[in-house]
Amino acid sequence: MALRHSTLVDSLSEAASIKQNNRVYDLRADGADVITLSLGEAFFDIPTPSFDELGPAAHHYSHSRGVPLLRQKLAKYHEEGSGTPVDPDREIMITAGSKAAVFMALTALVEPGDEVIVPEPLWVSYPDQVRLCRGIPVTVPWGGTVEDIAARVTPRTRAVVINNPHNPTGRRLTAAELRRLHELADEHGLALIADEVYSEFVPDHEPFVSTGAFDPDREHTVICNSMSKNFGISGWRVGYLIAGEGLIEQVTKLQQHLVTCAPTILCQYLAENFEAVLASTRPQIHAMVERRGRVAAALAARGVECLPGDSTFYLFASLGRSSLGSTEFAEELLSRYRVSVVAGAAYGASCEGFIRVSIGAEPEDRLLRGVRAICDLIDETSTGAVR
Ligand code: PLP
Repeated sequence: MALRHSTLVDSLSEAASIKQNNRVYDLRADGADVITLSLGEAFFDIPTPSFDELGPAAHHYSHSRGVPLLRQKLAKYHEEGSGTPVDPDREIMITAGSKAAVFMALTALVEPGDEVIVPEPLWVSYPDQVRLCRGIPVTVPWGGTVEDIAARVTPRTRAVVINNPHNPTGRRLTAAELRRLHELADEHGLALIADEVYSEFVPDHEPFVSTGAFDPDREHTVICNSMSKNFGISGWRVGYLIAGEGLIEQVTKLQQHLVTCAPTILCQYLAENFEAVLASTRPQIHAMVERRGRVAAALAARGVECLPGDSTFYLFASLGRSSLGSTEFAEELLSRYRVSVVAGAAYGASCEGFIRVSIGAEPEDRLLRGVRAICDLIDETSTGAVR
């Protein structure tokens, strides 16, 4: 007899960006040359790890909140970016990536039927993570302001999830917007879950200010961050969650029942090489943020507009007058031009007229070839009507 699946899990769709990248891996394995503008990561040269010096403890479970030395380094790193000290023993937990951190925070906060506000363009996993907690994702169409978020707060609202700097637009929230979000959180007893995985990917002259800076006592703020993007090691699956002691106690139980601890050997290596890895990625990140500007200019030169933003390694490009929906467009681009992007539809119902272009995984000449293909396909499929 066929196994019966959970209706909840059955109702989820695959994470669109990851599904697209799995296709690219398969095509490449078959020998296809795909210009890959769909990967949510940036490739850097980083020091090659040697695990020889780490000692036998590195091969075993660690404390479920993570290797203590890495917690200390991360606490100091966060303090530098927010001006607020973090207690490495009580206010931080190392996770298997920030995706797990967001999910554990939601699991610890959301009761069935609670609402969680997720502004569009939204990161593809937020709504399904909320649904997995039996909560209800409440979206705000792209272009919405903080007041549009405020307008969606009801007595059932439990949390707001923000991604700052923002995948896919590259926009950063202003200090005024962050203050207003904290005000809302205070006023209505909401959690403000701030996913800051692109915190290093900002223009050179503008240091990133963490959402944590506005809630020094961590009354309602949950910071999720990761080594995936900022340290260029997405495959290591190391992220972290910073929150008040009470929430950390709750998510520690989840961690203990789910994964025990983040990968010890990698955390130990990172703890001992923290500054060296960061010193090596930072200049490469700055070069990449500059390259982002050049790619945006190349798109603009062909009349393709992107939503405003200057950070991360993504662009959210409008399909303008193309008659194709974003999914069809991404399909056509992959099959005809061998260029992979993510359809805007994955980022919310209001984002149908866009595609996400990631510039993190290809050299500039191939990026520009990808841009030409995108612009050519928009031109070829354009009608007179503006979307
Ligand atoms: N949050 C956002 C906004 C992301 O774009 C991504 C990856 O694409 C993640 C979280 C996941 O990061 P991690 O590798 O730390 O789980």
